Amino acid sequence: MSLNKNYPAYLANKAISPNFDLAVEDKFRQTEATKVPLADVQIMNEAIARAAEAAQPMAELPSYRRQEVLQYCVKRFEERTDEFAEALCIEAGKPIRDSRGEVTRLIDTFRVAAEESTRMLGEVMPLDISARATGYRGMWKRVPIGPCSFITPFNFPLNLVAHKVAPALAVGCPFVLKPASKTPVGALLIGEVLAETDLPPGAFSILPADREAADLLVTDDRLKKLSFTGSQDVGWKLKARAGKKKVTLELGGNAACIIDEGTNLEDAVTRIIFGAFYQSGQSCVSVQRVLIHKNLYEKAVALLCEKVSQLKAGDPQAEETFVGPIISEKDAERISDWIESAQTAGAKVLVGGQRDGIMVAPTILADVPKDQPVCAKEVFGPVAVVSSFDTFDDALAEANDTDFGLQVGIFTRDIQKVMQAWDTMDVGGVIIGDVPSWRVDHMPYGGVKESGIGREGVRFAMQDMSEIRNLVIRSV
Ligand code: NAD
Repeated sequence: MSLNKNYPAYLANKAISPNFDLAVEDKFRQTEATKVPLADVQIMNEAIARAAEAAQPMAELPSYRRQEVLQYCVKRFEERTDEFAEALCIEAGKPIRDSRGEVTRLIDTFRVAAEESTRMLGEVMPLDISARATGYRGMWKRVPIGPCSFITPFNFPLNLVAHKVAPALAVGCPFVLKPASKTPVGALLIGEVLAETDLPPGAFSILPADREAADLLVTDDRLKKLSFTGSQDVGWKLKARAGKKKVTLELGGNAACIIDEGTNLEDAVTRIIFGAFYQSGQSCVSVQRVLIHKNLYEKAVALLCEKVSQLKAGDPQAEETFVGPIISEKDAERISDWIESAQTAGAKVLVGGQRDGIMVAPTILADVPKDQPVCAKEVFGPVAVVSSFDTFDDALAEANDTDFGLQVGIFTRDIQKVMQAWDTMDVGGVIIGDVPSWRVDHMPYGGVKESGIGREGVRFAMQDMSEIRNLVIRSV
């Protein structure tokens, strides 16, 4: 597997190569894999100006044309699946089977957007609930919000780009996107396909950028919306500087998964292992805290440890690899420091715990004090903390006792408990019978508390990228 020698960026729908100043590493081999351009302030400024000019033509693009563009992308992504997957495998260190899975999700996201692009519906409303509105009719429709700025993280270089780009195209918003500097190639491959379409000039720019140029995406008033996916430290700071823009933040978490009495342990543990160790735990809804009913605790933990010790870790290019590298040595070091800190505070390592360079072994910890970073913060690594609970109320309270609130997973068959969790959990989503990491790309997805504001999932992102425009007609 290899990448091209370099990849261009995209300014106002056209490939540009002003420099190749950003080197992208093969994350497992830690060697340079390719180079891409790094936009400066001047280029970013031009991209924003061209997006602003494209706002009207994009808004006027008929739905069938928006749908055709999205359908064309689906076709091209399908044709290039292997190439896209190999790029992810190299630039993100994502195991090849998961990389192919991400291309499938990219295709799903664009396919759903193609369908939704024809459903920008409005409503006719009776206005005469008060006597003074007698003879008035009202109706509203959605209009695109205008040029948007998108900033995306390293861990899903295709699908998290798709979650912004596809709804923008479906709704008719031009955009400027800055992909993660660690994994820009996925977004540039999407750009390559978009450049083959006849979108209005200026409709899209995809630009890896230096910090000063990226800052314009946050502060420039010509942009009407900032949609950011990344860490909470960065996200909330950017929101504070975003001026009058509408802001969506998709940030981190330390998701809990509850195993209640009566759970089929074999099934739950298999799913939890996927949820906790898939992509080396580098997912915002990775299972970090496993709360197990006291009657099942010993059996569940034994099964968990047995299965975790069998996980294949190593070269992401090998078909059998399930756990690949951490995105950087610095992050791998931080994760192993947190494991050590928990041990010093009295935690037991039940399995794993070791680090070899960028590889952190899948790790299960028990007896962890709640204030330890492996519990209280977002690990973003292959580490799960197990603990037991007495009652379901205790489990919900414990799962809720966090600064974050993305999704929670609950294994229960009791409908009363399902409703109790749905009514009371402070999260964006409750997943019953599976892990918090469960997601399909058209469902509403996002967080509360430190985990963010706003929702993605194609239809919900389209709502966020549009405004309601009302019409009132006096007909007497
Ligand atoms: P990060 O916050 O370090 O970077 C995210 C993006 O922001 C990158 O493109 C980065 O270059 C850019 N950036 C950083 N500082 C910036 C600044 N000052 N101005 C403008 N842009 C800036 O996050 P990461 O390490 O790439 O990704 C991991 C984080 O993303 C985790 O916290 C994870 O939970 C979160 N995440 C959330 C979701 C979600 O949907 N909620 C999905 C995936 C990842």
